[in-house]
Amino acid sequence: MQKRHVVVLGAGIAGLTTAYRLIQEGLGVTVVEKSPMVGGLARSYERDGYTYDFGPHRFHSNNPELQELVSGLLGDNLGVRDRKSRIFMEKRFFLYPLKLDNLVKNLPAGFLLRAFFDYLCVKAKHVFKKPTERNFEEWVHNRYGHTLYRKFFGVYTEKTWGIPCTEISADWASQRITLLSLWDAVKKTVFRPKAGDQPRTYVSKFWYPKRGGIGMICKRLAEEVERGGGRVILDADVRELKGAGDRIERVVYAKDGADHSLEPDAIISTIPITILCRMTNPAPSREVLDGIAKMRHRSMVFVYVALDRESVTDDHWIYLPEDHLTIHRISEFRNFSEHSAPPGKTLLCTEITCDFEDEVWNLPDEELRRIAVDDLVKIGLIRAEEVDTSWSHRTRYAYPIYDLDYKGRLQGARDFVERFTNLYTAGRQGLFKYNNMDHSIEMGIAVSHDLRTHGHEVDDVASGEEYFG
Ligand SMILES: Cc1cc2nc3c(=O)[nH]c(=O)nc-3n(C[C@H](O)[C@H](O)[C@H](O)COP(=O)(O)OP(=O)(O)OC[C@H]3O[C@@H](n4cnc5c(N)ncnc54)[C@H](O)[C@@H]3O)c2cc1C
Repeated sequence: MQKRHVVVLGAGIAGLTTAYRLIQEGLGVTVVEKSPMVGGLARSYERDGYTYDFGPHRFHSNNPELQELVSGLLGDNLGVRDRKSRIFMEKRFFLYPLKLDNLVKNLPAGFLLRAFFDYLCVKAKHVFKKPTERNFEEWVHNRYGHTLYRKFFGVYTEKTWGIPCTEISADWASQRITLLSLWDAVKKTVFRPKAGDQPRTYVSKFWYPKRGGIGMICKRLAEEVERGGGRVILDADVRELKGAGDRIERVVYAKDGADHSLEPDAIISTIPITILCRMTNPAPSREVLDGIAKMRHRSMVFVYVALDRESVTDDHWIYLPEDHLTIHRISEFRNFSEHSAPPGKTLLCTEITCDFEDEVWNLPDEELRRIAVDDLVKIGLIRAEEVDTSWSHRTRYAYPIYDLDYKGRLQGARDFVERFTNLYTAGRQGLFKYNNMDHSIEMGIAVSHDLRTHGHEVDDVASGEEYFG
């Protein structure tokens, strides 16, 4: 009997986990990936014999199934790291997650008192009046008061997202806020959470491959898929899904200048849901199309600055929330793996958020280098003459933007996809979800289960209030 054949769109960590899982279940699988390499956002690339990632990626999960999967894939190549990250504010570096003694020692007393007073005022006000929570600004005000909002949450958020905090959904705050929360950190320093209850931000160890960068997880998944008889087709841009009635009958992709098609029994898509809807034929209603036209992603430019120096910091990454600096995070890959820089040299990966094809996106390499180096010099991390070389990469679909109306629009897109009984969507892009690698792996596992049961397990992944980042 012929095997059921599933086509998976996208070879990021979600698509490859799905494929791996389906192969284990005895199905025939073809993965179709637009880029020349596997891994999506969690891919790595080589340059002069060394491996670099697209921003800092640490793997962490409390789920034993995921731990077993990733440790099995990496084997001896699995490294465990003690996380170190800091945050630069008010001309000083603070440990991150924040520590009470470190904060009190370094922050001006006036600031701490004002923040504390504001917090008490907000809490007192809410005893008498239930607060409204329509957007990010209100969410933060209600919990932390004006001082912390103005000094920290507001600037960081607008810098990262490029839109006013009043136009950002409170959902984003509830998922992400432990990254930003000074006050929460103070509480968690005093009342240490138990190991199993620790939010992601406070987890002190993470996994990272000893060699090959974070992209090794996906490389290994792809190898296993192929070893199990599946195909991973790279440089293959999916262009059209042809439907008939309630089924998708054909997937058309472009490769080597020609169109090719596959006629699978089912399709699992991990590419952006907006693109998926636009390429499906028959097309969604005008209302759905108008909705997805307004679902936006924040893009990212990574500027890699290689230095003639052994080491700059012992941090994995440093956050830069203040708006007088253009870059918003720095990572030093040597601290993830000693094999990620030539002997005697190191490299800083700086991140600048932007919109696709805006002024920043279109800046030439020399200008990006100037911006990154200026900021690094300004905060005292490097001297300009230490810079050896630099280069940049751009990522269009870095972060889904949770604006005030995204939920309704997303629902419209999902309802359209669900009209087709053999089409499923999963992963960060497929579900327009600000999630981590482990969530994408879980989604891959869940959606392969949904394929068998026609269930909706994939919706339960990363659905609570927790830190994503
Ligand atoms: C800067 C940054 C830092 C991060 N740090 C961490 C971290 O420390 N820890 C953590 O756990 N997570 C982190 N993440 C999140 C993590 O990278 C993602 O959640 C995860 O990699 C998403 O995997 P995915 O497979 O769901 O989506 P993606 O990786 O986006 O995969 C989608 C794939 O679809 C392909 N595709 C798109 N269109 C088409 C088409 N038309 N045809 C064929 N293929 C197509 C894309 O090329 C891509 O390979 C970070 C993300 C970013 C941006």
